[in-house]
Amino acid sequence: MLKTYRGSCHCGAVRFEADLDLAQPTYRCNCSICRRTRFWAAVVRPDGFRLLAGETELTQYLFNTRKNHHYFCRRCGVRAFGVGNETPVGRMYGVNLGCLDDVSDEELARVPVTFVDGRNDRWQSAPEFFGHL
Ligand SMILES: [Zn+2]
Repeated sequence: MLKTYRGSCHCGAVRFEADLDLAQPTYRCNCSICRRTRFWAAVVRPDGFRLLAGETELTQYLFNTRKNHHYFCRRCGVRAFGVGNETPVGRMYGVNLGCLDDVSDEELARVPVTFVDGRNDRWQSAPEFFGHL
């Protein structure tokens, strides 16, 4: 069931609200940027994401096909969310579960995680090794 959660970057400059169902799969990926940042994403429809503060603090980072828009706070460096413009289900937000403010450790520990082999563009498959992601 969808519930509205609040989230923020580390310094608090960037704040957002997202409608999430934490019983649905979330994603950890081995691609070049997810591996480096250990990004833990919940997928959110564009109408389920609201940036509440910090638009001017966000820096956009683009690479490779430049289709996915990666954002980080220019003050604290935290990646609270990103935008995938051409995902298999259209334009979607990827919200970093580690940035949610109002979720207990116990709730986070119960969230289902799907591992994906983004490095090889195999988004439906787990990589051979994923315990480190
Ligand atoms: Zn920040």
